[in-house]
Amino acid sequence: MRITVVEGDITSQDVDAVVNAANRGMRGGSGVDGAIHAAGAPEVLEDCRRRFPHGLATGDAGWTTAGRMAARWVIHVVGPNRHAGETDRSLLTSCYRRALEVADELGARSVAFPLVSAGVYGWSREESVDAALEVFRSADTADTGVDEARFVAFGRSAHELVRSRVESPGGPG
Ligand code: ADP
Repeated sequence: MRITVVEGDITSQDVDAVVNAANRGMRGGSGVDGAIHAAGAPEVLEDCRRRFPHGLATGDAGWTTAGRMAARWVIHVVGPNRHAGETDRSLLTSCYRRALEVADELGARSVAFPLVSAGVYGWSREESVDAALEVFRSADTADTGVDEARFVAFGRSAHELVRSRVESPGGPG
């Protein structure tokens, strides 16, 4: 699996699936969640209501259509909310691992990821990208059918940070 980094908006990525940093309610929210629901309106919300009548647990992932976006699917993950006491790092690695599993169920080959929990949910960008790299480089995910995991960094400073961690030979994983 190739790990790539671009700077930009995840809603305009030309990939099979985009990952959403959703919340347990699964009815849209702020940040990347709001952007994905706006870009995929109204189908993403309709599909969320249909597939997730009771929402989704922290650390888990599930998919919907991507509506009008170029991608085919949205893979929604629920990151841990540090401000609500969800400080267990394994919940963050779980999001990235479950996203890859759902991508494999769908047959998605290219998947774009935001920095899950590194906004309103209060984790640092470093913690999020390092959790992702640990999963992407682990033996457990070596047999994935995903051939590109693309970090979409929102803004220049995020881009520089993610790129340096992805390129760092001594980095995680
Ligand atoms: P969370 O609630 O999981 O913390 P946020 O959406 O608040 O999710 O933030 C997660 C990350 O997504 C942040 O680093 C934020 O800068 C970034 N982000 C916000 N909007 C977009 C977007 N349109 N595309 C890509 N990344 C985005």
